[in-house]
Amino acid sequence: MRFHVLTLFPAMFESPFAEGVVGRARDKGLVSIHAMDIRTFAHDRHRTVDDYQFGGGPGMLMKPDPLFEAVESVRQPGAKDIPVILMSPQGRVLTQRVVEELAELDEIALICGRYEGVDERVRQRLATDEISVGDYVLGGGELAAMVVIEAVSRLVPGALGSFESAQDDSFTTGLLQHPQYTRPAEFRGWRAPDVLMSGNHAEIERWRRRESLRRTYERRPDLLESAPLTEEDRAFLAELGE
Ligand code: SAH
Repeated sequence: MRFHVLTLFPAMFESPFAEGVVGRARDKGLVSIHAMDIRTFAHDRHRTVDDYQFGGGPGMLMKPDPLFEAVESVRQPGAKDIPVILMSPQGRVLTQRVVEELAELDEIALICGRYEGVDERVRQRLATDEISVGDYVLGGGELAAMVVIEAVSRLVPGALGSFESAQDDSFTTGLLQHPQYTRPAEFRGWRAPDVLMSGNHAEIERWRRRESLRRTYERRPDLLESAPLTEEDRAFLAELGE
């Protein structure tokens, strides 16, 4: 998976991806991250990347020309177009489903806005997708792009080690994940549930499924509307509701 990032602050992408899951995936050659300085594609003497907005008003907008040129520079001649994602609070909200969809791609370009955002023609004519990381406004698209890179990279086959798994992660199953415990079995008088140490795999699975349903019911009942549920799940949820 290859990420091209268009940013005014390429150095921001160094240390967050030097370690952890993405760091390892990069070392294994599964993921690569190319942060490009948009300013390189500004040709005037001052390397201008922003300008006043037509119609007046406070704040600056990112000019379209350096952004178009930057995207064009990563397209190999004759190769098919790379999906271009504009990071924007007005985009579709990032969910695990969207992350799974992006993980199917070989290559994406991520545009990080700054100031008041980007010229509308970037949104209309350059971006093929627009993604928001939530209903709040950041100072720039860099942290949002990093969220996309990290969430997508861990789904690239081979990125997670054999002891890690994305399979029963929250949202992947449509539910929140069950509570988890590790040693010591008793800590400051608080015992981990005995069932987890029973060695009875069927019972453990049943307990995990139920706790996952309970958590989701308590914290994110909205997820239950679209989660795949069995008859047994539904019966358990009905009990919770009583
Ligand atoms: N004036 C714009 C916000 C600009 S914030 C508006 O009201 O819609 C500056 C840049 O930060 C944006 O261009 C975008 O790239 C990034 N950004 C801010 N909030 C974001 C969010 N929730 N998700 C993704 N990117 C965001």
